[in-house]
Amino acid sequence: MKRRGRNVGRFRTPIWAAIKGTVGLLGSMKVMTEPTAAGTGTPSAAEVARIRGELERDVRILAREFPGRGMYRLPTLRACEAWIAGQIEAAGLMVERQAYRVGDVEVVNYHATVRGAGATRDEIVVVGAHYDAVELLPGYELCPAANDNGSGVAATLFLMREFATEARAGRVLGRTLRFSFWVNEEPPYFWTEEMGSLVDARARQAAGERIVAMLTPETIGCFSSKPGSQQYPPIPGLREKFGDAGDFIALIGMSESHEFVRRCVALMREHSDVKCAGAALPAVVPGVGASDHWSFWRCGFPALMITDTAPFRYEFYHTPEDVPEKMDFEMMSRVVCGLRGVVRGVMG
Ligand SMILES: [Zn+2]
Repeated sequence: MKRRGRNVGRFRTPIWAAIKGTVGLLGSMKVMTEPTAAGTGTPSAAEVARIRGELERDVRILAREFPGRGMYRLPTLRACEAWIAGQIEAAGLMVERQAYRVGDVEVVNYHATVRGAGATRDEIVVVGAHYDAVELLPGYELCPAANDNGSGVAATLFLMREFATEARAGRVLGRTLRFSFWVNEEPPYFWTEEMGSLVDARARQAAGERIVAMLTPETIGCFSSKPGSQQYPPIPGLREKFGDAGDFIALIGMSESHEFVRRCVALMREHSDVKCAGAALPAVVPGVGASDHWSFWRCGFPALMITDTAPFRYEFYHTPEDVPEKMDFEMMSRVVCGLRGVVRGVMG
């Protein structure tokens, strides 16, 4: 029987993890907001169409071929892994496997690197997304996870191909660019030692890597101009600053990353015409640490997520109906066009 309902994720974040995640590293309580404003970048229709073609194709593959891609459905997870590795190879890059164990099971983060040249090549910019899908309550169908987070994976794949192609053409950037695909972002691993991005960020920290920026596209495909379509965490003033309609993309980081957020918002507006908002908020605010940027923030790196705000806007968040048909690929393409400009900007 197909049941309907909002957010039917099987697990909620355990209370101990929530406490640890929000106050484990007492950050500053600084609030920085960049109110919603349209950008001035004007990508050509042909360029938007090209980006859209790639994004839509990859989201459809992820949703159709790998629904329920998680440790609770290992064959699907493995098939999705192989597909991601294949995409990295097809982009002409080396597949870097970062395997670790959760109980008896080996799980894997995937990475691909476009090396920088020159004096800043030891500085690393990370662009990555989680590829696992939420597990739904028994009795529900599998979650295709088209928007959460097929959209982020597709965006990361697109950017990876773009920068790999540019590097092959001799346009090598100063800093080193790493593309990452993390497992186990969804509960029950969220904010735990078994979360893929935390395993990764901790390893990078231990290795003494100089990660100067981390960006994660997380659920970036839902937009609506309907009044009342945007909800907010209970912080006074957010609705006034950002608006009542879910027609913008948000760049969200923790307070410590406020300068980084401001810089990226400016770059996004420069390279895309989408409405863009920014916020650097204390980690205790619900939703602010709700993706893999949390892991890098925990390890002291500047980090932010690019998001449509997921549960605060997307009706089909963590339901069997998180399918490509519910997404706005035109808007998402403009966002990714802007994101490419952001990455280029922080590489310099
Ligand atoms: Zn999710």
